[in-house]
Amino acid sequence: MSIEQVPSKNEILFVWFNHYAGVTIKTPSETLIIDPVDVKSKNLNVDAILISHEHYDHFDPSLISEIHKQTKCLVAADQTSAKRLRNIIPAEKLNEVQIGSEVKIGDVSVKVEKCNHPPAATPVSFIITSEDGLKIFHTADSLPFPEMTVLGEREKFDLVFCTVGIAPGTSPQTGADIARLTKPRVAVPYHTGSAADQKKFAEILKRELPKVNCLIPEVGKIYQVSKRT
Ligand SMILES: [Zn+2]
Repeated sequence: MSIEQVPSKNEILFVWFNHYAGVTIKTPSETLIIDPVDVKSKNLNVDAILISHEHYDHFDPSLISEIHKQTKCLVAADQTSAKRLRNIIPAEKLNEVQIGSEVKIGDVSVKVEKCNHPPAATPVSFIITSEDGLKIFHTADSLPFPEMTVLGEREKFDLVFCTVGIAPGTSPQTGADIARLTKPRVAVPYHTGSAADQKKFAEILKRELPKVNCLIPEVGKIYQVSKRT
């Protein structure tokens, strides 16, 4: 899912392109795609692919290979997924990441954090800081975990993606708990095929977290988010 437009300074654009954690993020200088599955590789223009864990709804080695062949992009993946990419992606372009890693894509930084998704072997989440200092937390399939409070206080997130379904144990409530812990300016309910569950998430936020704006995304649509002022 490509984004043709270029965001202005202090802004990013994003597209949610499947019912899982598949998100393209475009900053003024770089384009990142996270957990690409169920998306056409044709004309995809990305500088980096980020992979959170090895489950089929997040990790498609042949698609990663196709995107890489076209773009020569960097691939940063959790340890389990990275091992499976060793024969596919050249070593100098494959970055095996773990909690605490930091990856630079031009002037965009990606910090690798914990992901509370027990069925996966070595799951990670990503904190993306644009060149303008706009902060995005892509929590992959995570359930809430206590350290999210510290991450929220440290980073002052503009945008947090909150899983509200499909992954074991997740619900609109666990998604809202992520928003409660991380306190972003904008929270996005994703990883679901259920519009009703996204709506439930929005209702919990409205009732309990009135300072957090809820952005219910439609698959394939481009959204613009600007930096906290
Ligand atoms: Zn998933």
